[in-house]
Amino acid sequence: MRIEALCTGDELLTGVTTDTNSTWFQQRLLEHGEQIARTTVVGDVREEILEALRTLSGRADAVLVSGGLGPTADDLTAEVAAQAAGVPLVIHEGALAALRERFAKRGLAITENNMKQVMVPAGSEVVLNPAGSAPMFILRLGKAVLFFVPGVPREYRALVETAVLPRIDALRAERGETGFRALRLLKTVFLPESHLDARVRPLLALHPRVTFGFRTHFPENHLKLMAEGRSPEEAREVLEAADAAARPLLGDHLFGVDDETMAGVVGRQLLSRRETLALAESCTGGRIGDMLTDVPGASAYFLGSAVAYANDLKERWVSVAHTTLVENGAVSQMVAGEMARGARRSAESTWALSVTGIAGPDGGTPEKPVGTVFIGLDGPDGTEVHAHRFHGDREWVRSASAYAALDWLRLRTRGSAS
Ligand code: AMP
Ligand code: MG
Repeated sequence: MRIEALCTGDELLTGVTTDTNSTWFQQRLLEHGEQIARTTVVGDVREEILEALRTLSGRADAVLVSGGLGPTADDLTAEVAAQAAGVPLVIHEGALAALRERFAKRGLAITENNMKQVMVPAGSEVVLNPAGSAPMFILRLGKAVLFFVPGVPREYRALVETAVLPRIDALRAERGETGFRALRLLKTVFLPESHLDARVRPLLALHPRVTFGFRTHFPENHLKLMAEGRSPEEAREVLEAADAAARPLLGDHLFGVDDETMAGVVGRQLLSRRETLALAESCTGGRIGDMLTDVPGASAYFLGSAVAYANDLKERWVSVAHTTLVENGAVSQMVAGEMARGARRSAESTWALSVTGIAGPDGGTPEKPVGTVFIGLDGPDGTEVHAHRFHGDREWVRSASAYAALDWLRLRTRGSAS
């Protein structure tokens, strides 16, 4: 079955808005066993939309058209669709009633241009919009079924999910196309891509209905499992079997699945143990705090970070002894330990992580080359420090340091608190 997408809107051609609707649709469609053959983007221009509708309906079985269903003068889609189908625009009574109710609830008067949103090409099937005023409509043109949905992502997704995908499933069933897919991302950290590949390679022959893909986001490497089955349930079963086989091969490197993030996993573990975290960051410059506070609700376990970059502030903010700094240098096992201890004592947290290192490109010495990083962890059982040597540029060293610190705490806080 050939499926195409048509996105309308000047904002998509001027760099103002990125077409995120299509990427979302592509992912959802993949799970329904289909793939978009082509995406076309046009501006709010009558001739462009008309030509695109004619071309696409001439070669596709289903077309998802997004945008241009609003009340303003540049919203032309319904009008042009009617023109392409050779039918007039008519008021849809159900949509009008829903619009009246929606406006009454908000104490707003309906304006003339709102009426435009309840006009659809005669003969089309209408699906009311649970999240907005413009309904979607479905029109047959040539051999193609055209789904017209609003461009606002929240409305678009709700309607595609509830009204478009089920109809695409039905069309596929009619055509005897019954494959479904189930997807999962297994996220690992500090496992080089070649090692990840070598570990899972034995699974390929054992799980022929699963496609194994790899994605790199240093220092994360993701294993993407795409399973196929004749029903959504079967695809899910095939997926779960491959997932269960892959997990033991990834070991401690596996930190999360799908949308989970390293900081989110650490946060979830701390939350379930009712524990808290403070930081003393030097070469990461607040990056760990940034990763942690990216997660909504972080205030329940994250207390704060002292970005103590200068030696002087390592003494004043996190109580590193002057002699420790003089005798060992700022990038040292001793300083990392005292930073973590000082941060934990001053924040009165369960845990404190510290990072001090040489991110480069300058500042390396033969004894402490660029990439030398000490990470401290102070907690209920005392202070420990890990020495690392990361190989890469400044960004790489800083990113690896932040991940190494969080990953250490992730491994230490798995399971329930003792
Ligand atoms: P429209 O349905 O044309 O009135 O679009 C409403 C709003 O939805 C636009 O102003 C954009 O901000 C957004 N939008 C439209 N098309 C897309 C798209 N393909 N991807 C993401 N956002 C979109
Ligand atoms: Mg628009």
